[in-house]
Amino acid sequence: MEPKPLTHKMKITPENAWVFDIDGVITNPSEKEIKETEILTEIIKRLQKKEPVALVSGRAYSWIDRVVLQSLTNQIEDKALLDNLFVSAEFGGITIKYANGDRTKNIHHEEQLPQELTKKAKDLIQKHYKDIAFVDEEKEVQFTVEMKRGITVEKFKPSQIEFSEKFREFTSEYDTNNDLEVHEDRIATNIKNKKLNKHFAIKGLLKWLEENKIGPKHFEVFGDSLSDFEMGRELSNSGYDVRFIFVGNDEIGEENFEIIRQGNVDKGTAQYLATH
Ligand SMILES: [Mg+2]
Repeated sequence: MEPKPLTHKMKITPENAWVFDIDGVITNPSEKEIKETEILTEIIKRLQKKEPVALVSGRAYSWIDRVVLQSLTNQIEDKALLDNLFVSAEFGGITIKYANGDRTKNIHHEEQLPQELTKKAKDLIQKHYKDIAFVDEEKEVQFTVEMKRGITVEKFKPSQIEFSEKFREFTSEYDTNNDLEVHEDRIATNIKNKKLNKHFAIKGLLKWLEENKIGPKHFEVFGDSLSDFEMGRELSNSGYDVRFIFVGNDEIGEENFEIIRQGNVDKGTAQYLATH
């Protein structure tokens, strides 16, 4: 038997909660900005219905603020609606909450990296890889090196393998409790605390819901990467009813919650929201 959420203890029980990855779900993956402006309109509609909305990303807080939150808040007249918005940046390393429309940013210092480690990694990039990669200076909890604009993935790859290997050496020097990892994706390498992932981010969301005595009956979760399924799994394992809307292109496996394929990244999100 799966554990059941304690909805009877909750004061507010909205029909739905809405959980969105950002890159490739709300923003266009190649333009790195919002192209489907209807998505924000649809999000605001949900906030007006007092349904909680969560934005969950590995991106830096200041990036999310610049690319999504500023346009979203500008379109909301009654700022108190934002009290139903929860934002998780850097895989749960940073959380944003609102009270009467005012935001509070919380940094999880216990997951931050040793400064000497990030300095060493940064120096390496500056010294040997600055034509191909750059350090994301906006990150506050993890360390990220990204492929430069105009560089192809093919050109980036061999260098990425090299510096990621060096990062592993550096990390083992400082990682006394074995809680750090070097993680590579197509266009970036991250050094981060192992705890930081979308499972951890959703745990933060569930805590926020509980604090506010909100017990949604159902969760609609949007993602475009396989790692986004961590969000569905965490919610489902906590006993919640989940539907996952997958707007990516990868082959996907079986999960113990409903999955709807609605390809075409941000366009897919807009289409789904317009009809649900
Ligand atoms: Mg994404």
